[in-house]
Amino acid sequence: MITIGVDIGGSSIKAALTDPEVGRIFEIARRPTFANSSQKVTIEQIHTCIETLIRFAGGENLTVNGIGIGVPGTVDVERGIVYHPPNLPAWEEVPLAEEIHTAWDMDVRLDNDANCAALGEAHFGAGRDMQHFIGLTLGTGVGSGIIINRRIFHGEHGFAGEFGHLTIDQNGVKCNCGGRGCIEAYIGIHYMMQEAVPLLRDDPRSPLQQRAADDPASLSPEDLSTAADAGDRSSASILRTAGERLGAAVASAANLMDITSFIVGGGISAAGDVLFDGVRQSARERVLRVHRDHLRILPAQTGNDAGMLGAASLLV
Ligand SMILES: [Zn+2]
Repeated sequence: MITIGVDIGGSSIKAALTDPEVGRIFEIARRPTFANSSQKVTIEQIHTCIETLIRFAGGENLTVNGIGIGVPGTVDVERGIVYHPPNLPAWEEVPLAEEIHTAWDMDVRLDNDANCAALGEAHFGAGRDMQHFIGLTLGTGVGSGIIINRRIFHGEHGFAGEFGHLTIDQNGVKCNCGGRGCIEAYIGIHYMMQEAVPLLRDDPRSPLQQRAADDPASLSPEDLSTAADAGDRSSASILRTAGERLGAAVASAANLMDITSFIVGGGISAAGDVLFDGVRQSARERVLRVHRDHLRILPAQTGNDAGMLGAASLLV
């Protein structure tokens, strides 16, 4: 099966011509999103990406069977409607699947970006040999997709997989969902760095002290990882704490779902071994004993391409 997967990001639209059943990528097309322009301008960019790939497919004698699209924000998967994507301010309620279907006369499927990222790992990444797993995307927010029998689990109303809003402390810090103590409010990049900066600034032995004082916005989880590897105790402790917290949420999800494989991608996952070791240890301590030996927490393999590859896999 040959499909096109489109990932609509805030700054660029990326699309891939693929065979998701064998995890093969033939060609990639990119266009700027022009997120602050009208909805029409952005949709034109999507059409241009699709056109480029269909022309390429024609040259290779490949017939495209359908188009999948990953969108940040809320999606009505059944009706193919996108609601108020946060990084596309001009979009309100957009029947995107119908619009693309009318133009190209092909099957069109839509899903949200975290679900697509998980599905991308199932077909092109670390989940290729797994029947069930939870894919986590650690960035500004904490997104996830639950994969059961190699398909996205949508839940009763289509909103399953909000791992980021699992509570790890009912009296904890405020989360942007309005709740308290959600895991996202501790390990979302901004929240995590906000907590890290004063610790680094007050540690005269930390190589990051100066930057934490002068230019805190320039610090990333990757910097913490590099400093931790070089022996910085404050950085190591921040990452270990983040790992411990994530491990607690992972254990809750594993106990609830009896799913014991987790694939972790996104910006913070670049923080590497110190973080991953913390997650593994904490999750292992907290899962029921029956799960302990099955627990697998692996880094994602598809990087920034996860969204478009997952979108391409929506038609399988
Ligand atoms: Zn929340």
